[in-house]
Amino acid sequence: MKKITPKSKSTKLTSTKPKATKSTVTRSKIKKIGSKSFCAMPVVPIREFPSGFDPRRASVILSNSAKWANMTVLKYCFFTNANWKGSAAEVSIVRSAFNTWKAIGIGLEFQEMTDPEEAEIRIGFLRGDGAWSYVGREILTIPSTDRTMNFGWDISSDFDTALHEIGHTLGLHHEHQNPNAGIEWNEENVYRDLAQPPNSWSRATTHHNILKKLNPAEVDGSNWDPNSIMEYNLAPGWVKKPEQFSNGLTPVGGLSSDDKTWVKKFYPPKRKIIPELKLFQSVEITAADGLQEDFYFIPKVSKKYKIQTIGKLDTVMVLSEMIGGRPVYLSGDDDSGKDLNSFIEMRLIKNRKYLINIRILYRPANGSGGIVVTK
Ligand SMILES: [Zn+2]
Repeated sequence: MKKITPKSKSTKLTSTKPKATKSTVTRSKIKKIGSKSFCAMPVVPIREFPSGFDPRRASVILSNSAKWANMTVLKYCFFTNANWKGSAAEVSIVRSAFNTWKAIGIGLEFQEMTDPEEAEIRIGFLRGDGAWSYVGREILTIPSTDRTMNFGWDISSDFDTALHEIGHTLGLHHEHQNPNAGIEWNEENVYRDLAQPPNSWSRATTHHNILKKLNPAEVDGSNWDPNSIMEYNLAPGWVKKPEQFSNGLTPVGGLSSDDKTWVKKFYPPKRKIIPELKLFQSVEITAADGLQEDFYFIPKVSKKYKIQTIGKLDTVMVLSEMIGGRPVYLSGDDDSGKDLNSFIEMRLIKNRKYLINIRILYRPANGSGGIVVTK
């Protein structure tokens, strides 16, 4: 166990949000290809690291930063103002899609709220604005008056689009942008088809959503899954290689077996036994990059406590209080890319049960680390 390195006192304790603002975020518009409508993801600036920063560390942090702390109760709501309101059938299909993701057996939970101020996932149905969602924790950068997900066409019989957008919110990217897919595009065919009415995509939008390959670290080493819910219908003439897709690709629909495997790897079912931390007793964290460990802490005295990681891990730490068997968020910290430790100082009440989630964003080679609670 390495020596505890206390965090700078000036560091804010409550923010786990990536640094992006509304003014730096732009959205792509209009997504129809022939009779098929496509999702077009918002363009979000990529986090920058200081010059000389280890590029592998940066790419692993970027890849893992999108994931939520497992066991989080993600709250969603539907806007009810005239422009953004969906029909009862559309709202119902989105609810069903949340239930379908949950039914895989993931540790995340979803809860519907009526007040957008209380929801991380805020859903609109603005016609003509396409279907899109921010990816994972990116949605925390969006002001609470704005949408984090939109359905721009009638989805009352389009269950897959609802599943797809929720997939982005869980941290999934487009499958055809998987660099392991080995797709060679007839790029000009793709640009040409999507630029024509009624699609009207710019080359930049087509590149962002189709042709651009993801950073290899962002795909968790998985192979291409043509039947993923995150895969598009690809038109004939777009794919050069693999040749069997030169006449197009139509995924079978619904969540694929690999979709379910991926989401359960990062959001496994809640463990029956979660270890309890004792005051001043550090515990080693052994989880690999991208994975998570959880602990309970039950104070014997009501007072301020310091909860912090130890060592050189890049982590996101979330502190919640267990109320009615569910974690209620209190605070979080993200020490990724900094030579500090995740740290939360908060007054805790005796005999209440607190949950601490540690998501490992990056573990250096041979890097050890742990967690400790002190006074
Ligand atoms: Zn999409």
